[in-house]
Amino acid sequence: MEITIQNIAVEVERKPIRNMHLSVYPPDARVHLSMPFFLSESDARSFLLKKWQWICRNREQVLKQPRQTQREYISGESHYLFGTRYMLLVEPITSGANSINVQGNKLIMKCRPASTRDNRRAQLQEWYRGHLRTILTGLVDKWCEQLGEAPVEWTIKQMKTEWGSCIARKRHLVFNLDLARVPVECIEYIVVHELTHLAVQNHGPAFQALMTQRLPNWKLLRKQLNDFIAIPVEEEIKDEQDSL
Ligand SMILES: [Zn+2]
Repeated sequence: MEITIQNIAVEVERKPIRNMHLSVYPPDARVHLSMPFFLSESDARSFLLKKWQWICRNREQVLKQPRQTQREYISGESHYLFGTRYMLLVEPITSGANSINVQGNKLIMKCRPASTRDNRRAQLQEWYRGHLRTILTGLVDKWCEQLGEAPVEWTIKQMKTEWGSCIARKRHLVFNLDLARVPVECIEYIVVHELTHLAVQNHGPAFQALMTQRLPNWKLLRKQLNDFIAIPVEEEIKDEQDSL
């Protein structure tokens, strides 16, 4: 189903869920609403009208984010590690192991002359994964101890629509590989966010209160993170206090 309001078409999808769930997706600020089967089209319409300001504000924000250009993994490109920008320099080698090293503001990638774009991409992803694993190990341990949480399991995955997720009942957290690109304080925000889902599984007032208690500047960090890389902006109906 599609509902058009003020020339903006909203995709509406019915799902076996209990709450309305609204998202704005980059790069084109597509608006998507998931709704429970038991609600009607006019429920959807009045929900959208109630959230119209939120929708417009987030569409604007998504549309002004710089678009990620297609990466070729060749010399001269910019790549980020923990919020710092580096210039990639690809050096073909005919012997020895492939490697990536930071030298000043350069990222020196040594690889075979015949390496393809996909090979270089995979090499960089593995390098990111190693760095992110080190940072996450420290942060997850630190926060589990600080919050008195028993140890959790966690993995790193390339995800398109989320920075992290938490399967509370299995005490398992998943972190997006792209976190390796953003400042460490933003990674810390995601770690605290996912650990807080062990206590509260939605983003409602109880969740927000716990976040404020645990990491008082979390809203600022969330904004900093979303300004850094475009990832869908999501909102649940329960989340009545509008997020940033
Ligand atoms: Zn969450």
